[in-house]
Amino acid sequence: MMAIKLFGIKDDYEARRSARLFLKYGITPEEEAKMLVDQKGACATCEEKPDLQRLVIDFCEDTATIRGLLCPGCRTTIRRAGSNLLVWQRTMAYLLASRLASYTGFAGNSKV
Ligand SMILES: [Zn+2]
Repeated sequence: MMAIKLFGIKDDYEARRSARLFLKYGITPEEEAKMLVDQKGACATCEEKPDLQRLVIDFCEDTATIRGLLCPGCRTTIRRAGSNLLVWQRTMAYLLASRLASYTGFAGNSKV
C-alpha cells in the first residue's frame, strides 16, 4: 500500500473518482460520505452492508436527482425494472399472491 501512495497512484484514483462524482452527479466525496452515514452504511432498499464493494449511487434519470446509495444487486434490479411504479406494484402483487398461495394451498393462477 505504501508503494502505491509513493507513486501517487492512489491519489490519482481518488482525484479521478472525485471529478467523476462531481461531473456525473454534482456532489463531492464528502456529500457521498454523508449519505453513507445517513444510511448507516447500508443499502437503501435491502439494508445489507456490502463487505468489499462500495454502495453505488442510484440516480433517477426522470427527476435528475440522487435517490440514495444501493448495493450493486438492488441497483441492477431497479435498472432492469425501471422506475415505472406500476411495474413494481404488479411485481409486489405477484409475489404476495404467490406467498398467499403457499400458505393456503390456493394457487390463484393455476388451472389445477
Ligand atoms: Zn441492496
